[in-house]
Amino acid sequence: MRIGIIGAGQLGRMLAEAGHPLGLEFRFYDRSADTPGGQVAPIVTGEFEDHEKLAAFARGCDVVTFDWENVPVASLLPIAKRIPVYPQPEFLAIAQDRLLEKTLFRDLGIPTPPFAPVDLRYDLECALERIGAPGILKTRRLGYDGKGQARIMQRAAAGAAFASLGGQSLIYESFVRFSREVSMIAARSAAGKIVYYPLSENVHASGILDETRAPARYPALERQARRHMRAILERFKYVGILAVEFFVDKGVLLANEMAPRVHNSGHWTIEGAVSSQFENHLRAIAGLPLGCTDARGHSAMVNFVGAMPSRERALAVPGLHWHDYGKREARPGRKLGHATVVAATAKQRDLLLRRARRLKG
Ligand code: AMP
Repeated sequence: MRIGIIGAGQLGRMLAEAGHPLGLEFRFYDRSADTPGGQVAPIVTGEFEDHEKLAAFARGCDVVTFDWENVPVASLLPIAKRIPVYPQPEFLAIAQDRLLEKTLFRDLGIPTPPFAPVDLRYDLECALERIGAPGILKTRRLGYDGKGQARIMQRAAAGAAFASLGGQSLIYESFVRFSREVSMIAARSAAGKIVYYPLSENVHASGILDETRAPARYPALERQARRHMRAILERFKYVGILAVEFFVDKGVLLANEMAPRVHNSGHWTIEGAVSSQFENHLRAIAGLPLGCTDARGHSAMVNFVGAMPSRERALAVPGLHWHDYGKREARPGRKLGHATVVAATAKQRDLLLRRARRLKG
């Protein structure tokens, strides 16, 4: 069986690495051949809007998925008429737009921070009247890792924030003074079976994931997260891995955003769970039985953003698992790799995590 992956970043590469032992074959499609995915499987290059090229790419595949959520939905729909595209493009269209996404959460009874759509400067005044400050103005589309966002700490700052993002459709949301950030990753098979990974606890730096620890043992939050995941997965008869990020506010989960793909906060599952998120995404989209999501111990993952630490020093940390994405160019804010540690106890894990963090200097 051949899987086509649109987007050949590190997520695609880790999918292919997880799928080779299952006997699956891979083809990537991306704008450039010199990509993390292109280093581990054949790649077709072309624009994401080139429907003809994409159709030719898909003809050689049995199922198509994507590792990047901004693939144009209009480019996936013609492919989905011929072969399965998972997760479904209709769902991707919602995940690409923060307003549709938060509206879906609300419709499914999943709590969110108060939010309002903002197209005009006047809309922002109305939103501020209703929701108040502080808050965050975000672009509805194409924002990620804290990009396309402006904080409004007091109402007087609204004009400058709007000007910095204006001209695009926006969403204003209340600034949540959360006690922690967590995420849940779950997979649904075409046959309707759902498996959940343990809750992950995440720390962000400048809007980018910095560190994840799992399993995060908050049974009440875990129950809420599973209920919310199931509501979304079942509404859409979703197939594949879904990740949802939450703020914890006074013991309640508030949904921030979702990703219809494998997620950075699930990288620990490669070594820290029986079957990784990458393997379970492939099992789901290939129609294979889903794998066990149990944790093998206590895991932590540290992201390397903008620069890779010394590999020699990293490999001297006992049991550290090193992941270099093979990106040729280091840029500020660019995810270049990560490291995972797994230990028998949370205390041992935290000691190893401290050593892994020190690598970042
Ligand atoms: P996002 O791109 O929406 O995932 O935002 C990136 C990070 O910015 C989040 O993980 C939070 O740490 C922070 N953030 C985003 N929205 C809010 C909010 N409404 N209140 C507080 N922090 C936020």
